[in-house]
Amino acid sequence: MVGTSNNEERTGDRDLGFSNLMREPKGMRSCDIDVSPVCRRCKNYFVFFEAKRWNISRPELTLSFRGRDEIQKHSRYTVNSAKRQGIPAYFVASTDEWQTIDVVRLEDWFGMQMTRIEFVQWLERRALEHLECCPGEE
Ligand SMILES: [Zn+2]
Repeated sequence: MVGTSNNEERTGDRDLGFSNLMREPKGMRSCDIDVSPVCRRCKNYFVFFEAKRWNISRPELTLSFRGRDEIQKHSRYTVNSAKRQGIPAYFVASTDEWQTIDVVRLEDWFGMQMTRIEFVQWLERRALEHLECCPGEE
């Protein structure tokens, strides 16, 4: 096993073979992108998410922002990629299997807490906003 115990797959339903392979080349790092929404018209991402399931024993890592260092550590690659794409990056976290969701806009640390339904509606509004300036199909 390459890596640390943090790299162990928690759910056991994902093949880590490629992840392990990507740790072998020297002089680079590898990072996968968490599931993020893509425009149905132009097929581009319009938001990048860094998603983290908080451990319930660490409630200080939610919107109190005492966990800001932790959030920055987890979001570094997401923020860099979002800047290049010209789209916002958000850190999203939950302690209750995504029924309540902490959302932090990483460019200004604006934080919100939403129910699952509110999150879905919020993201649908982001999609509509994107369509107003969508470059269309390429
Ligand atoms: Zn689009």
